[in-house]
Amino acid sequence: MKASGCWLVISSFRADSNSVTRDLAHCVLHRVLGHDNAGNAPWADLAEDMVVEYVLDCLDTPHTSVSGREDRMFVCGRQFSRAGAPSPDLLAQVVRETSPWQLESHARMFVRDDHSARAGADDAAWRELSQQVMAEVEGFVRDEEGRTSALLSILRIRNRRRYDYRAFLRKFMTRRTVVRESPTDFDPIYYTYGLSVYGNLPLIDSLEQSESGRVEEFVIAIDTSGSTMGGPVVRFLEEAFEVLRQTHADGGANLHVIQCDDMVRSDDVVTCEGDLRRLVGGFELRGGGGTDFRPVFDYVDRLVDEGGFRNLRGLMYFTDGFGTYPTRRPRYETAFVFCDDMYREHDVPPWAMRIVVRTEDLMPGRPRYG
Ligand SMILES: [Zn+2]
Repeated sequence: MKASGCWLVISSFRADSNSVTRDLAHCVLHRVLGHDNAGNAPWADLAEDMVVEYVLDCLDTPHTSVSGREDRMFVCGRQFSRAGAPSPDLLAQVVRETSPWQLESHARMFVRDDHSARAGADDAAWRELSQQVMAEVEGFVRDEEGRTSALLSILRIRNRRRYDYRAFLRKFMTRRTVVRESPTDFDPIYYTYGLSVYGNLPLIDSLEQSESGRVEEFVIAIDTSGSTMGGPVVRFLEEAFEVLRQTHADGGANLHVIQCDDMVRSDDVVTCEGDLRRLVGGFELRGGGGTDFRPVFDYVDRLVDEGGFRNLRGLMYFTDGFGTYPTRRPRYETAFVFCDDMYREHDVPPWAMRIVVRTEDLMPGRPRYG
């Protein structure tokens, strides 16, 4: 360390004996949370600093607490609620819109290190460490005062699993009725999917097949109560149709696209590329009311009863929010596909599968921090 660096440490220590350990904790926490980009925009740097300082202020340990905690907590509480979640990518958008003088005052409160000096780190090693920390905090830390809850929710965002939704689509659309169960042959995608979603529950899906030669039907229900989903919806439909085309190359499949908010608004049948182009060309989501998943199931059940569906294999519900689920298990495979950029938790009934994607998964190429 250079002499000037030494003096900086010493004078900082004199001013506040915890400031040195705080600086260290700040840098380490950046790594644990995966903040390793050296070329961030200023608002993204500040967003990362706010997240890190917030965690340290919440933990409030005897050797890392420094003055000004209440002020920082107040600013973070306000900005995090605007952002929707304590995640730097969401927070950066909010920070970006604050006035220059406010940005400066926030920088004085939260900045402790120079992010442009970040050297390449082994993210895999840090990610593993962050998963260990998360497991320890979740399993072993007794915390009646809730001091670790901020760290935990931020670690959950950091360690959130990314699903390959195309693999999921392929699997969903090629599932067959099982004639003979085989306990030793099962599909690894479903097996690991179960483990990742439920933690200790592998899903066993036999590889046996049956029923060939019948036209298979699938439903994609679209929750139209969210008004901003146009792009992702079209992308998802295109991907689903592509999978259908590849997996049912003999043309033995069709797709019902049902739009619904709190009532069914439309039902379009897609059997060929032309149908899809007509549907998504000038695609306008119909609806905008509240979210209720039940009308789609009632509608589809009625069609099944009346013979409108002869071989319905599965229903996927594409939604960006929360809605009311049917209480009874449907007679067909059901999956909920949540398009959610806000890191919210989505619970589904035990009979349904769940996959959470982000807009960037469907529409890659968007910058990480707006
Ligand atoms: Zn920092």
